[in-house]
Amino acid sequence: MSRAQISQDIINTCLKMSAMGLNQGTSGNISVRFENGMLITPTSVPYEDLRPDDIVYVDMNGAAEPGKNPSSEWRFHLDILKSKPEENVVLHNHAISATAVAVMNKEIPAIHYMVAAAGGNVIPCAPYATYGTQQLSEYAVNALQGYKATLLQHHGMITTAKTLEKALWLAQEVEVLAKLYLTILPIMDPAPILSDAQIDEVLIKFHGYGLSDTH
Ligand SMILES: [Zn+2]
Repeated sequence: MSRAQISQDIINTCLKMSAMGLNQGTSGNISVRFENGMLITPTSVPYEDLRPDDIVYVDMNGAAEPGKNPSSEWRFHLDILKSKPEENVVLHNHAISATAVAVMNKEIPAIHYMVAAAGGNVIPCAPYATYGTQQLSEYAVNALQGYKATLLQHHGMITTAKTLEKALWLAQEVEVLAKLYLTILPIMDPAPILSDAQIDEVLIKFHGYGLSDTH
């Protein structure tokens, strides 16, 4: 696919993410593996104003093309793509329910079988670090080992996938699970959860549907 096409697909996915209510202002950002680096949304441009030329190429050493400013979170986008050669897309947002769970510094436990869509029996929560820092990137990369999604404490969520469609789908699933968890917590804490064996069965079924490519 051409750079212009991928850039347009990134913009379309940003607009969908907003329409789905997952995004707050210009806080979300998306990257796609491209050549020896990635294409990523620029910093502080409203999605409605984005044109394919605004999407920034950043090489594997973290150098952005001249005259363009990548998202302030380009470090974790690049480091996640480097650490997960099987994935092509990194998607980040501050969706309300996922962020609320992250503020409580809780992982989402196996309250529902769809938790397995992120690759395991929880959706993890990476420790807090200042946005845009190498420290945050390291925490995110660690949390995503063995998972396709993570919460970021006091911040938001990240999903990874082979395609933009799957990354957005997973972000919506994480947000729904977070909302479900927030609904249960005031009534039953800890929430009832599925066993590891029950989640393993779901992981095997998901594998057949291509929902979880890494397990
Ligand atoms: Zn953020």
